Formats: sequence, structure tokens, C-alpha cells
Amino acid sequence: MGTATPTTTAGLLICEHCDTVYRRRPLARGEVACCERCNFVLERHPRLGPDQLLALTATAMVVFVQANVWPIVTLELNGRPSSTTLWGTIITMWQQHAEVVAVLAALTLFFFPLLKMTLFGWVFWFARRGERGPGFRGAMIALHYLRPWTMSEVFVLGAMVAIVKARVYFDVVPDPGIFAYGALMLLITVFGTIDLRQLWDVTRERRG
Ligand SMILES: [Zn+2]
Repeated sequence: MGTATPTTTAGLLICEHCDTVYRRRPLARGEVACCERCNFVLERHPRLGPDQLLALTATAMVVFVQANVWPIVTLELNGRPSSTTLWGTIITMWQQHAEVVAVLAALTLFFFPLLKMTLFGWVFWFARRGERGPGFRGAMIALHYLRPWTMSEVFVLGAMVAIVKARVYFDVVPDPGIFAYGALMLLITVFGTIDLRQLWDVTRERRG
């Protein structure tokens, strides 16, 4: 198990993979520091500052609302079209006694991404002014653990496969919601490449 606390302390860098300790030095633009022993990435030069990250979070929020409000797919059976949103699907799964799948889908496709974006927005908002907002430490730890728990990419791929397969039996039309999820998937992938540890360096504890 890795530690949830940042691995940069007092000018030192610790490899999360093999625990080798390095003295830190400033990185040039685009430079990546790797571990000498195991080649694990120690640190990257941050490409995006808090302002850009906040803008990215706001974009993801808008796309997230669209992905949830717009229907994801329309099925046509005996000439009767029926479209459904993500929440419509989750509720149907619950009613069909697939409770575990319904809860997993609600968590990984709705609650975790929502929590993640809210926390991102919170820490970036204060980081713009070089400050740490209330609960900064807790938010950073939560973000560390939430990292592997947003599954939009699995959902989009799964939904695409299901749409193609179901075409044999029904008229299936992908709706805007699924494309919004696709866009969200790309944004979440970009978030995945951000080294949040930079925030510890660019922010200071608030006074007063
Ligand atoms: Zn290493």
C-alpha cells in the first residue's frame, strides 16, 4: 500500500515504488524525473497551473450535467421509441433485482466523479490564490483514493458494445448523453495525468 500523504518532504523525493530517496531539483518545462533503480516516474513538470485546472474542472462539470440530463440511448421496439438516461437505467436495474450492479454503476458513474470534481474545484479554487482551503489535506487524501474509482471509460466502451449488439434485435440510436460521457471520459483521462502533489508546493496554509 502506498502512503496517502505526499511523497515530497523538505526538498526530498521518495520513489513510491521502491522507496529510494532523492534530493529534489527544479524541473524544466516538459521534463520528467524518473527513479534510477526502477524507472518509476517520480515527478513531472506541471503543464497546467491552478487557473487552467479550475477551467478544466468547470468544463468537466458542465459535461457531467449534460451526460446525466440527456438520454444515453433510444430503443425502438414495435414502433414505440423509448429513451433512457443514466439514472433511468440505474433505477431499472434496481427494479430488475440487479441491486449490486445498480449501486456500483451509481457510485462509479455518478457519485465518485461528482465528488472528485467537487474536490478538484475546491482545491483549485483556493490554489489560484496560493492558498489551501479548509479541509485541504482531507481533500487531497480523498482524491488520492478516488483515483481508480471513476469508470466512465469502461461505461462508454460497454455501452457502445451493447448498442452495436442490440442493433440485431431493436432499432438502437445512441443519444447525446453517451457522447457527453465520451467527452467526460477524455476529460477524466486528462485529470488522471495531473500530478496533484504540485499543489503542496504552490499553496500555503491560510492565516487568520
Ligand atoms: Zn524506484
